[in-house]
Amino acid sequence: MGVGPTMGAVAAKASRWLSRRLLPRELRITPGRAPVLSMTYDDVIGSACDTGAALLQTYGGRGTFYVAGSLTGGQEDGKAAHTAGQLHDLCRAGHEIASHGWAHQDYTHLRAEAIRADLDRNSRFLATFTGRTAANFAYPFGRYNLTSQLQCVLRFRSCRVVGGGVYRHHVDLNCLGSLRLYGDELASSAWRRALQQIADGGWLVVNTHAVEEDCGPYGCRPDDLDALLRYARELGCELLPVEDAINAWQRER
Ligand SMILES: [Zn+2]
Repeated sequence: MGVGPTMGAVAAKASRWLSRRLLPRELRITPGRAPVLSMTYDDVIGSACDTGAALLQTYGGRGTFYVAGSLTGGQEDGKAAHTAGQLHDLCRAGHEIASHGWAHQDYTHLRAEAIRADLDRNSRFLATFTGRTAANFAYPFGRYNLTSQLQCVLRFRSCRVVGGGVYRHHVDLNCLGSLRLYGDELASSAWRRALQQIADGGWLVVNTHAVEEDCGPYGCRPDDLDALLRYARELGCELLPVEDAINAWQRER
């Protein structure tokens, strides 16, 4: 009959809708300021630390790396995840280490206590590298509902999801979108149109995973990232971590 899954899907959609309406945290994107591209890496595959970070640095930029501590020194979808040494290297190079929860679980399936414990554990772990509490967060799998938002929005300056990511006037930091640099959005070069949209002042947030030739369905090849970054610089974009971008827009207010 299919009533169960349908009702579940409706309830999940209603929960997301409610959380966006109840918990907005608006930040104004000021016209006239240089446009900003924030490159973000979820899960932090080893090649994102090496090639992803190096390419950003080549173009004078830095990025945000959303780390799930349970993956440190391990594997993700058959690829080597980041090592502790790579996290130290990212910190030294001035990249942002942000939280992706500890165990990379879908928070829409967890109760509030379990979400709090998962966030606490990851924050303690990340602080051993950064010496501070992570300021920004990305939902594992980009999934959220009212319960998880209530747990996350009070801890973090921003909570990133998947999809969207083009901001010209204002942004809800509690539901910060991101354009996918993988899959169909990569194949259709959606990033090129998105950069053109923000060229006269705006913020584009992009996310990907692996940065290597055999990048899998959720990553990009080095040439793809290079093309994005080169075009962003041609359009005058600053390449800032999420934390620095928020600070920049808040200074402009
Ligand atoms: Zn993830």
